[in-house]
Amino acid sequence: MTSATTLFKELLNVNDTIIDDINISKNRYDEKVLIARIHPRKGLQWKCPICGKRCKVYDQPYEERRWRGLDFGAIPVELIASVPRVICKEHGVKTAGVPWAYPDSGFTKDFEYTVVWLCKYLSRSAVSNYMRIDWRTVGRCITRVHNDIEPNVLGRLNGLVKIGIDETSYRTGHKYITVVLNHETNTVVWASDGHGKTVLEKFFNLLTPQQCASIEVVSGDGARWITDCVNEYIPNAKRCVDPFHVVEWTMEALDSVRTDAWREALAKLNKYDVKRGPGRPKADDEEAKKHRQAKKEASEIKQSSYALGKSPDHLTATQEARLEMIQKSDKRLYRAYILKEKLRLLLKITDRDEAESELIAWVKWARHCRIPAFVELQRKIMRHKDHILNTIELGVTNARIEATNNKIKLLIRKAYGFRNVDSMIDMVLLYCSGLKIPLPNRNRVRYA
Ligand SMILES: [Zn+2]
Repeated sequence: MTSATTLFKELLNVNDTIIDDINISKNRYDEKVLIARIHPRKGLQWKCPICGKRCKVYDQPYEERRWRGLDFGAIPVELIASVPRVICKEHGVKTAGVPWAYPDSGFTKDFEYTVVWLCKYLSRSAVSNYMRIDWRTVGRCITRVHNDIEPNVLGRLNGLVKIGIDETSYRTGHKYITVVLNHETNTVVWASDGHGKTVLEKFFNLLTPQQCASIEVVSGDGARWITDCVNEYIPNAKRCVDPFHVVEWTMEALDSVRTDAWREALAKLNKYDVKRGPGRPKADDEEAKKHRQAKKEASEIKQSSYALGKSPDHLTATQEARLEMIQKSDKRLYRAYILKEKLRLLLKITDRDEAESELIAWVKWARHCRIPAFVELQRKIMRHKDHILNTIELGVTNARIEATNNKIKLLIRKAYGFRNVDSMIDMVLLYCSGLKIPLPNRNRVRYA
C-alpha cells in the first residue's frame, strides 16, 4: 500500500519534493484548507531562481513561504516550505528557487497554468470567483506563464510579409496600446503601451535589416504616423488602409447626417401646435394629422441607425420599410445612405483600374452632394486614395483582420484592471497567437 505522504505527493503533483506533514485547518474566513509542509528533494535545494545553479546559503534563519496549489475538490490547498536566501555568483542574493513555482510567485505552476487557460474562455468574475483570486493576480499569472511558454517573443518578428498596425484605447480614451499584426497568420507579433510615431519606431528599431526587407504590405487606419514610419523604415513596402476603417469613416459621416436629420425632424414636430383637449383628437383635424406624421418620421429617423448601417441584402422587413420611409421623407439622409453604400461596394472591387475610375466618380459626386459631412469625407478619401487603391490591388480585403481587431479590443477591455500594462500586453500576445496553453496532467485524452 502506498503511504499517505507518497499518495499526497502524487495528488499535489509536486515532483522532486518531500512532504513533511499534511493537515486540514481553517483559514481566517472559516474555510477548510489543506496545508502541506514540504521541502525540495536534496540536490534541488539552494538553487538560484534565475539561472538554476546550486549556490551557497546566504543567511539564517530560513524564510517561511506559502504557495496556493490547485484545490482538492472544494478544499483550497496551501504549500508551506522554509526557503533560504542564497548567493549566486552571477545574480547576487536571492530567495532560493523551488521546483513547483516560478520565482516571486505565491502559486504553484499548475495553479497558474489553470488560471491562464480559464482566462482565455471565461469572464473576469468567473475566473476570479472560481480560482479564489483577485483580478490583478490573474494579470501576474498571465505574465509568468507567457514568459515560460514563450521565452523568445522576438521570434515572432521573423519572416513578416503582410502586417497591420492598429491602436486601441483603454481607460476610456486616455491611454492607448499599439498592436502589430501578422496578417498571414492572424496573430499579434508586437504590442506596446502608447501610440504615435515614437511608439511605432520602437517596433521598427527591433527589426533587423533582413526582417525589414521581407515586409511587403503595411495596413492600418489613415494615421499619418504609420505612413511616416513606413516611408522611413520600409520604403519599399506598400501602405494600405484597412477597408473596414474606410467603412467606419463613412459610417461616422452618415451618422452625423442622421443626427442632424433627427434634430430637424424634432424641430418640425414642435412647429405643430396641437392643443390636447379631453378625449381623442377628431379624425379630420388636419393639424393633428400632420403632427402624427411628423412624429412618426422623427421616430423612424431616430431608429434608423441599424437599417442605414447594414448592407441591403441583410435588412429585415422593418428595416426595409424604415429605409423606404426615409427615401420619401428625407432626401438628404437617403442620399447620404446611397453614398455610403456606393463606397462600401467600391471597396469590394478587385481590379485596381476599375476601382480607381469608380473612386474618382464617387469623389466627384460626394464633392457636389451638398452634405458637409460627405464633402469632408471626400477630402479624406482623396488624401488616402493611393492607399485605398493599394488595398484593393493587394487584396487586403480580409474580414479576418476586422475579426482579430475586435478580438484584441475585447481582450483589452477584459484586461482593464490589471495593475500594469505589461500584463495586458502579455494577455494580447498569449491569446492572439498560435500558442497552446497546456492544462496540468493531461495527454489529450477525453473521457466519455
Ligand atoms: Zn544565478
